[in-house]
Amino acid sequence: MTTPGSEAVDFLVVGGGIVGITCAAALKRKYPDARVRLIEKDATLGGHASGRNSGVLHAGFYYSSSSLKARFSRDGCRRLTEYCLERDLPINRCGKLVVAQSESDHAGIDELKRRAEANGVRVEEVDEAGVAEIEPRARTVGRALFSPTTASVHPGKVLQALAADAKALGVEILTAAAYIRRESDVVHTAAGSFPARFVVNAAGLYADKIAHDHGIGRRYRILPFKGLYLFGDKREKLRTNVYPVPDLGNPFAGVHFTVTVDGHVKIGPTATPAFWREQYAGLSGFKLGEFAEIAAREISLLTRNDFGFRDLAMAEIRKYSRPRLAALAARLVPDIEPEHFRTWGPPGIRAQLFDVEQRKLEMDFVVEGDERSLHVLNAVSPAFTCSLPFADHLVARVAELAT
Ligand SMILES: Cc1cc2nc3c(=O)[nH]c(=O)nc-3n(C[C@H](O)[C@H](O)[C@H](O)COP(=O)(O)OP(=O)(O)OC[C@H]3O[C@@H](n4cnc5c(N)ncnc54)[C@H](O)[C@@H]3O)c2cc1C
Repeated sequence: MTTPGSEAVDFLVVGGGIVGITCAAALKRKYPDARVRLIEKDATLGGHASGRNSGVLHAGFYYSSSSLKARFSRDGCRRLTEYCLERDLPINRCGKLVVAQSESDHAGIDELKRRAEANGVRVEEVDEAGVAEIEPRARTVGRALFSPTTASVHPGKVLQALAADAKALGVEILTAAAYIRRESDVVHTAAGSFPARFVVNAAGLYADKIAHDHGIGRRYRILPFKGLYLFGDKREKLRTNVYPVPDLGNPFAGVHFTVTVDGHVKIGPTATPAFWREQYAGLSGFKLGEFAEIAAREISLLTRNDFGFRDLAMAEIRKYSRPRLAALAARLVPDIEPEHFRTWGPPGIRAQLFDVEQRKLEMDFVVEGDERSLHVLNAVSPAFTCSLPFADHLVARVAELAT
């Protein structure tokens, strides 16, 4: 890849995930004469959440209508679906069933229906016979919801296509170019230093660090949560994604089945607290300082059980057991054969934002900035789905701040 010169840039985007790539392209579309550079610390793009997620385009009926997630999911799902179809990228328009495990889930189904209506998202209520027609292996108690517009894609292929579009527009993409610090207008990176008029921080698991370097978002820290997937072999087939009714007070969707773009079935992801940001396996990505800080925070959360963290962590740690995870999933699809689910897939890590002052997890996207920088501090799920309209929103924020 190109070596960065000392040329000044108008816009510097930090982070080569889906948020950084779509934002850089949207900036270049809005300001065609501006110099837009994207820097990624790794040798390749999309190596973290954007390339390690479930690949589900979420329709947008889980989120309350006042949230940014709700604003962007419906249009993001539609726009990425159209994008995949236009570009001939693989997409599995398999939909999603949300099933009730007991009658006490019916209130949750009613709430999801209300949210779907408020967000302008199509869902269909079905009874047990309707569920049997959509996915004969799924079980519901009385009622369920079906979302026909939920789809599965190959996140890495979508990201590469969007990165190619960004380059074709004229965005400079530099890999192996970690952001180090900013001094006045000069940004120092692992690949050189150059002046940047405006910085957009889309650094995922490190977004808090870069924001703090700009004096922004000091009350926030990223808490990493690892998501593991358990893959079924080819004897396990499902026609649609099958999810439980979510606990809407919890940022994670609960154990569910995803049908991948090529028809495989996987259970997960879990949401286990990680001890450092890129703790994918063994000691990979280990940083002592990070470990000390994150472990201390998690111990304090465990002790105080803030927002039910101890219960959440304990429940999630038990899912490291393959039989336990398969047994939880069998509540949704009772005839799965645990022996068919033997392969753990590549995990992903959620960059979940924690407010240290209010001691709570942030549930929505958090974006803060000033006249020289904008920081995407909580690009949690479904930021992949939301990426195209979210990028337009970020560019509108940049336009307000930078003028
Ligand atoms: C397990 C899991 C499952 C998910 N499932 C779904 C799903 O089905 N559907 C959906 O819509 N969303 C899903 N999500 C959420 C979605 O993947 C993320 O919200 C989205 O990918 C966030 O994109 P991003 O660009 O902000 O972050 P990332 O993809 O993490 O990109 C940030 C980039 O910044 C780089 N970076 C970090 N520090 C620096 C630095 N100092 N200098 C330069 N670069 C730096 C990183 O290397 C990385 O490439 C899931 C997430 C996880 C973890």
